[in-house]
Amino acid sequence: MVANKKLLMLPGDGIGPEVMAEVRRLIDWMDRRRHVSFDVTEDLVGGAAYDVHGVAITDATMEAALGADAVLFGAVGGPKWDDVGYDVRPEAGLLRLRKDLDLFANLRPAICFDALADASSLKRDLVSGLDILIVRELTGGVYFGEPRGIEDLPDGQRRGVNTQVYTTSEIHRVCRVAFDLARKRGNRVCSTEKSNVMESGVLWRQEAQRVHDEEFPDVELTHMLADNCGMQLVRNPAQFDVIVTDNLFGDMLSDVASMLTGSLGMLPSASLGPADDSGRRRALYEPVHGSAPDIAGQGKANPLAMIQSYAMMLRYSFDMAEDADLLEQAVRNALDSGCRTIDIAGSGISPISCTEMGAAIVDELDRLAA
Ligand code: NAD
Repeated sequence: MVANKKLLMLPGDGIGPEVMAEVRRLIDWMDRRRHVSFDVTEDLVGGAAYDVHGVAITDATMEAALGADAVLFGAVGGPKWDDVGYDVRPEAGLLRLRKDLDLFANLRPAICFDALADASSLKRDLVSGLDILIVRELTGGVYFGEPRGIEDLPDGQRRGVNTQVYTTSEIHRVCRVAFDLARKRGNRVCSTEKSNVMESGVLWRQEAQRVHDEEFPDVELTHMLADNCGMQLVRNPAQFDVIVTDNLFGDMLSDVASMLTGSLGMLPSASLGPADDSGRRRALYEPVHGSAPDIAGQGKANPLAMIQSYAMMLRYSFDMAEDADLLEQAVRNALDSGCRTIDIAGSGISPISCTEMGAAIVDELDRLAA
């Protein structure tokens, strides 16, 4: 029996609880079939927390998040809370988690399953077998830099200001994550900035190179301007293994990459914080999609983004690569055998429900582990 792992589940709002319920099944399966136990606590976040406590996340839940080995997050928000105050709106719960856990590295894989290659906006031969990872800096850059604001000018105009700012340590730590992950994949990193027009980009390029030369000389490093990277992602995405970039460019490039793979319901993510003395990183795993109020409560949600976020948790927080591989293979097999929720069904295929997709993954796991 492997020692218990502390897991905080925050299902949230809308389809969040529906997709999280399918992860519960997998946790039970791991317990039964792989003898891996998780010490699971579940709590409220987002609108669900606001309805009970008047805030999007309580201090007690934050304490639990700080003490957990990993946080699994569903989704927050919905029209019910459109008029609540800015500080307590559902999204404030997620922002506080990111800030207080210091989640500086956001990992967004773009994996194209063969069975879904026709759902991509690109031609099948460009995306089939695609497996790239975008590592986005999440806590610095132009979204947080000072000065910022909108000011009135003496001539009657207004001026909006944001500041792009990075320090060497901020660049070093996110690049280290990218190089480290590359070693476990294709061993290639492409660092992306705008060093042709931005000093912060010049610094980014120099410091990425320095971390590479001093600590990761075995990993292949290339540099690319962010606009070219956007173009290359739609021209020939398979050329990339790991892309590391700042907050602003990462925001855009990861959304571009996500469309290569088809549906929002298929996209997982991980956000990692600094490592402590034992090497443990604070971490939060969540699907890229939101709470999908238009389909909530109807059993139509695709649970595979949440399930793959759970697989990322096994891989990155608990070093359980074998179990993560098994789960990802089960997802691949279920898709190959024709299982489709409504978002990926396409014409002529009758979709299955969220719970049926969860059950199909468990069936595939049983078959793989037999
Ligand atoms: P959304 O991701 O919730 O939904 C966009 C579209 O994709 C909808 O048509 C939805 O039905 C579909 N969709 C999303 N996930 C799906 C899934 N797993 N299976 C099947 N279909 C799926 O984005 P939105 O509509 O812009 O936002 C809805 C709410 O979610 C808003 O309140 C927004 O603020 C919030 N939101 C939260 C997060 C988060 O919690 N991280 C992220 C994005 C949006």
